Formats: sequence, C-alpha cells, structure tokens
Amino acid sequence: MIHLEGINKTYYNGAPLHVLKGIDLDIERGEFVSIMGSSGSGKSTLLNILGILDNYDTGAYYLNEVLIRDLSETRAAEYRNRMIGFIFQSFNLISFKNAMENVALPLFYQNVSRRKRNALALEYLDRLGLKEWGHHMPNELSGGQKQRVAIARALISQPRIILADEPTGALDSKTSVEVMDILKEVNDTGMTVIVVTHESGVANRTNKIIRLKDGVIEAVEDNRNHDVLVFGKEDLMK
Ligand code: ADP
Ligand code: MG
Repeated sequence: MIHLEGINKTYYNGAPLHVLKGIDLDIERGEFVSIMGSSGSGKSTLLNILGILDNYDTGAYYLNEVLIRDLSETRAAEYRNRMIGFIFQSFNLISFKNAMENVALPLFYQNVSRRKRNALALEYLDRLGLKEWGHHMPNELSGGQKQRVAIARALISQPRIILADEPTGALDSKTSVEVMDILKEVNDTGMTVIVVTHESGVANRTNKIIRLKDGVIEAVEDNRNHDVLVFGKEDLMK
C-alpha cells in the first residue's frame, strides 16, 4: 500500500537541514506499525510526507500505486482526504465547535448535508464511548476524551490509513493504554494504522517497529509476538 524509495528531505529555511536520508519503506494494507525514534530524528517529517502534507526532495512515494509526486495540489488534497485520517498529540480540535461538530468536520468538506453529518458524527462518538458528549465543547473534555473525539473525526470519512503523530504524548499512562486499545481495535477492522512515538511502551503495542535515527531507518522489527509478554498492559506502558 505504501512504498517509499530513497526518500530525501532537506529543510532550507535557515541553514540546510538534511532530515530524511534515503528512506526505503514498504507498509502493507492492514498493518499496525510504529515509527520510533528520539526527538528530532525525523519522525514527524516522515509521517507528514506519508500523509501528503509535505513534499519530499528526491526519491519516490507510491500510495496505492499512485506516485504522489505527480499529483496536482487539488488532486493531492482529494487523495489525502479520501485515503488518510490524522491524529495528533495536541488533538487539534476546533475550540469553538462542540464534539459533534468537530467529528463532523471532514464531511462538511465533502458537502454532506448537515443532518447526515451530525447523525454520522453521533454514531462515531457513540462507537468511541462518547455518546453523551456530542454537545460538549473541547475545553469540557478530558485529554483522553479529546483524543477520542479526534479519533472519531479521523475515522468518519472512512480512510484507508490512520496516521497518528505521538497520539499519547499529552496523556497519562492509563489513558495512553486506552488510546492504543482503540487504535488496535481500529486496526482489527482492517485499517492500516501508523503511529509515531518516542515511547517504547506505545511502540510495543504495534505489530512492527520501525526505528528511525538521524533520518535513517536503523531497524525494522517484527513485533507480532508482543502479546506473549507476561506483563499487564499497565507494565507495557512504563
Ligand atoms: P521528530 O518528529 O522525530 O521529533 P521532526 O521530523 O519534527 O522530528 O524534525 C526533524 C528535524 O527537522 C528537527 O531538527 C526539526 O527541528 C527540523 N524541522 C522540522 N520541521 C521543520 C521545518 N518546517 N523547517 C525547518 N526545520 C524543521
Ligand atoms: Mg515529531
């Protein structure tokens, strides 16, 4: 589904900074993958390229056999909206819209009627255990609830891939486990899920760990046997 070949990315605002140095990567449909690495290793840059939010300099990125380089801005945006749902560390909810309106937002851009988008938004909120919270504003929600609203918003347009950049970075360890449980359930429905994190407890919940160091993939580890660990989930998060 995702095929990267020799991806290079340099930031030129200020002294040139070569952030991604020849990334080769394949991710199949339905995989549950984490991208791990210390701060500044290029994780978000890589995720933004995967999400068609940013361009790369050299190399090739194929998403479902489409070379992303060749897309016009408009087609890139269309393709991104159809294929990808994003989740961020800071939730990125719109503070002056309630939970239901936040979840419904992607459908607004697809010209779905208000009535239909609100009905669907309530359905997704319900699926995420937030049935009673649709009319609450983001500042009335806990961190975990905000992230569940953000996950509902990412899911509502039924993307093929969920990209999550440090989705547990602002949450305590118990809530982090809950969020990773949800992403696991999402993956169980067949959706491809890619999580960027610097926490090994989070990466350990995924089936494949890609280790990024200074813009280079250091290792790709099969983590499918992580469930055989005898620790409880709480221990995994430490
Ligand atoms: P990570 O997510 O692993 O912490 P990033 O991909 O955000 O790493 O950043 C990698 C490096 O690129 C860092 O040194 C960061 O400061 C720099 N960087 C990120 N975004 C930009 C940008 N838009 N312009 C210039 N430098 C950037
Ligand atoms: Mg980052």
